[in-house]
Amino acid sequence: MSGDDARVLIAGGGIAGLTLALTCHQIGVPVTVFESVREIKPLGVGINLQPNAVRELIDLGLGDALPSIGIEATEWALVGKNGNDVWAEPRGVEAGYRWPQYSVHRGELQMLLYRTVLQRLGSDAVQTGMRVLRYENRSVSGMQRVQIECEHRATGVSQVATGAVLVAGDGLHSAVRSQMHPDEGDPKWGGQVLWRGTAEGPPIRSGAAFTLVGNMEQRFVHYPIRAADPDTGLQMQNWIAELSFDPAEGWRSSDWNRRAELSDFLPAFEDWNFAWLDIPALIRRAPEVFEYPMVDRDPVDQWVDGNVALMGDAAHVMYPVGSNGASQAIVDARVIGARFLDHGVTSDALSAYESQLLGDMSALVLRNRGAGPVGILGVVEERCGGVFDDIHDVIPRPEIEEFMARYKAAAGFAVDALNAAPAIIPAGARVNR
Ligand SMILES: Cc1cc2nc3c(=O)[nH]c(=O)nc-3n(C[C@H](O)[C@H](O)[C@H](O)COP(=O)(O)OP(=O)(O)OC[C@H]3O[C@@H](n4cnc5c(N)ncnc54)[C@H](O)[C@@H]3O)c2cc1C
Repeated sequence: MSGDDARVLIAGGGIAGLTLALTCHQIGVPVTVFESVREIKPLGVGINLQPNAVRELIDLGLGDALPSIGIEATEWALVGKNGNDVWAEPRGVEAGYRWPQYSVHRGELQMLLYRTVLQRLGSDAVQTGMRVLRYENRSVSGMQRVQIECEHRATGVSQVATGAVLVAGDGLHSAVRSQMHPDEGDPKWGGQVLWRGTAEGPPIRSGAAFTLVGNMEQRFVHYPIRAADPDTGLQMQNWIAELSFDPAEGWRSSDWNRRAELSDFLPAFEDWNFAWLDIPALIRRAPEVFEYPMVDRDPVDQWVDGNVALMGDAAHVMYPVGSNGASQAIVDARVIGARFLDHGVTSDALSAYESQLLGDMSALVLRNRGAGPVGILGVVEERCGGVFDDIHDVIPRPEIEEFMARYKAAAGFAVDALNAAPAIIPAGARVNR
């Protein structure tokens, strides 16, 4: 394996890496993705795509495919542990956005991006079973280039490739980030653990609602990821059960795909059976359950080292409390493409991307560590112990409205700003080579 000196090398064929591959193709830049797993499979459960990310998928020509992997989310609701609403607001087009919000199956989104990359770029564009081990910035005939070393997982043989830049979308345990920040160590765990599953059931609320029930210590998130089956009336639903522990005691490894037992968490939710949602029954219907300790990393002051940049979770892994990890991974890839349009496939483009996003994303990582939009449940707990009949006796409506508006602005999906923003990649734009 050698490479093409003008090529973009991408570490990781996840949501960020595959979106960047499609973006490079759109703007006429050659690209190869190196993905560690031997076969890309539809792993994970539900994720939400905010309107800023849906806009980018539509611009990539994937809008018509989204209903096949998910459902438009039209409502977002916080509910106290007594089952009464704290806050409910419209989402997506119903909230005035020009683009919808989608709740999708994470693995099916990855497969949609993967299939589209293979169709548009050819089967060689994604090299599976190739783990990126390290990079080296080097000068080739007076040009700044990057060389990567990969391990071919089937044979254990090490191979090198050279390109114009390396963009690392290799996720939570990024090898590229650990080379760039060698003293950083493991992701940080703050004491919360998520158990995640999917199960079929009758539609809840509007049948298109993201609902979060509970308080700061114990929560249950529910949202559908499919339209109701016209024959059975049942809907595929995503759920997350969350408990808090003493972080000093440590937890098992942070792997998105680790299987778990119901006995690890179901007892704590046994009496969470409301007239409108039977939580223990929904949990029991899931064919498999995955455990994930909620981890993140402290923000770093550098995502770029010469001709190498971090994106997605490799750059800014955050608590999934604001449903913006996958959305931001998509936006990162699009912003990198836009900066290639401005500066060519160069380290200047990578630095411009870093200058544009690093400050805001570092603040968002810390905001999500402080519970993000869910923090309002902490205020409810503080003021009334979570017991209320009418929430506005506890928190006036304008206070909640302001809290939510601040979060959306910080996460890049404030409605007016997004609606007014020009396309990140103008239609038909190509990099001059
Ligand atoms: C298996 C899996 C399941 C997930 N399930 C959920 C979920 O249910 N809910 C949720 O909110 N988020 C989930 N996530 C995380 C979510 O996908 C990310 O937070 C978000 O999409 C950001 O995307 P990303 O592309 O930066 O990272 P990811 O989507 O995590 O993709 C990273 C990719 O890089 C590959 N990789 C890792 N190391 C190397 C290496 N050294 N060389 C080459 N390739 C490498 C990985 O195999 C993976 O394909 C999951 C991630 C994974 C990998």
